[in-house]
Amino acid sequence: MVSRAIIQELQAAAGKGAVTFSPEDLIVYSYDATMPEYRPDVVVFPQSTEQVAAIMRVANEHRLPVVPRGAGTNVSGGSLALEGGMILCLSRMNRILEIDRENLVAVVEPGVVNAELQAALAPLGLFYPPDPASMNVCTIGGNVAENSGGPRCLKYGVTKDYVLGLEVVLPTGEVIHTGGSVMKNCTGYDFTRLFVGSEGTLGVVTKITLRLLPLAEAKKTMLAVFDSVVDASSAVSAIIARGIIPTTLELMDRILLRCAEDFVHVGLPKDAGAVLLIEVDGFRESLDGQMRQIKAVCRANQARELRHARTSKEVDDLWLARRTVIGAVGRLEPNYGLQDVTVPRSKLPIIVEEIGDISAKYDLPIGVLAHAGDGNLHPIVLFDARRDGDLAKVHAAEKEICKAALALGGTLSGEHGIGLSKREYLPMEYGPIEMSLVARLRKVFDPNGILNPGKIVAGGIV
Ligand SMILES: Cc1cc2nc3c(=O)[nH]c(=O)nc-3n(C[C@H](O)[C@H](O)[C@H](O)COP(=O)(O)OP(=O)(O)OC[C@H]3O[C@@H](n4cnc5c(N)ncnc54)[C@H](O)[C@@H]3O)c2cc1C
Repeated sequence: MVSRAIIQELQAAAGKGAVTFSPEDLIVYSYDATMPEYRPDVVVFPQSTEQVAAIMRVANEHRLPVVPRGAGTNVSGGSLALEGGMILCLSRMNRILEIDRENLVAVVEPGVVNAELQAALAPLGLFYPPDPASMNVCTIGGNVAENSGGPRCLKYGVTKDYVLGLEVVLPTGEVIHTGGSVMKNCTGYDFTRLFVGSEGTLGVVTKITLRLLPLAEAKKTMLAVFDSVVDASSAVSAIIARGIIPTTLELMDRILLRCAEDFVHVGLPKDAGAVLLIEVDGFRESLDGQMRQIKAVCRANQARELRHARTSKEVDDLWLARRTVIGAVGRLEPNYGLQDVTVPRSKLPIIVEEIGDISAKYDLPIGVLAHAGDGNLHPIVLFDARRDGDLAKVHAAEKEICKAALALGGTLSGEHGIGLSKREYLPMEYGPIEMSLVARLRKVFDPNGILNPGKIVAGGIV
């Protein structure tokens, strides 16, 4: 419970209309895109850095847990108020402050929605590559905190490759600036990189300076259809081994193809074992040559059909299917666990087979979705939480998927973070010294342990 006196201090810091503690509002902010729910005591919507700093000073003084939140689309429990306290929702700080064409730089507030930034840049011939499948909803602040990726990140890299500088409010209320709008920066420690991917545990990001690229002149999109998911995943590393880096190499297996097609009705081959959604971009005259080579590799890996998207509608249809498929699995089962492991891409065929074995062992359908070019898999475990024993089986299956990825030289998370969902697995990848460093580092930034307590590692308010 937060006392009336603290509520009044928060109202003084952010304005009366920026603070809510009505039960119906608290319910809305009690969940993210994972299953668990934790009710916060208060939700605050700041509109400026000064307000965030004032709010953090109040929270720090009263040892009030604070959970930063963008759009709440994360899939690792990152924006859940595990210990109650405050949700600090940055959605009202949503201005694009500057687009600098000469320097190819944009400065944005954290609540800017990813797709809105893309839409503002495209007419200027500019491009911000990171494109999480949730881009129509998720915020740049959330992307920075999770170091988000997306389909285009195979060729272009992930969020950390585009963040040049940050303004951050520390848990103590101090405001710091890291990096800047220069392309090279070797001054002192790289604080910018430390904050990117820190999952809202070190500071609240209030301003972001992003590197932009010129928009590619043209792109081509193709669907490669395979009878087997193993063949499709073998084609992925074979394409890269040819020295071609497509913009995207996305994989969907049979389970997901069926869900997607039954939802969007765009003519996906429901009888296929898997498809690769392949896109190349660049100078117009370079694209046919790239596609020719990719097609040859796909054929050599038993692709049974290669479908070019010939109109912009056909391109949009394919992407609609890909971007909505996670929601579409609700047609099969009411619940899903979305995994996020990465393996060296040459190991994709092995892990895909192992996931098939895990699915059989636990008698649970597991759809395989992958940013395959990056070796980043999102196995989707389908279940019904109301069915006795399902939840326990899901946890066991997910743990086995993590172990299998680590055994292949992979990692626990490619882009969704550790948050709450994987904190118990972190010691499988980090040794005791690394685990202790995480805790010690956190204490440097957050001496009272108020910021997003219980995420990445257990433990909270000290
Ligand atoms: C259908 C679907 C598809 C998805 N596809 C992808 C994908 O392709 N690639 C990918 O990487 N992810 C994907 N995600 C996951 C998710 O969209 C990303 O993690 C996204 O970056 C979260 O942004 P958000 O604004 O929703 O942040 P939230 O979920 O609100 O917060 C995420 C984390 O960031 C912290 N945070 C938020 N704002 C700030 C801030 N200003 N300062 C400090 N910390 C902050 C929060 O405390 C939390 O820990 C997908 C999710 C869904 C539901």
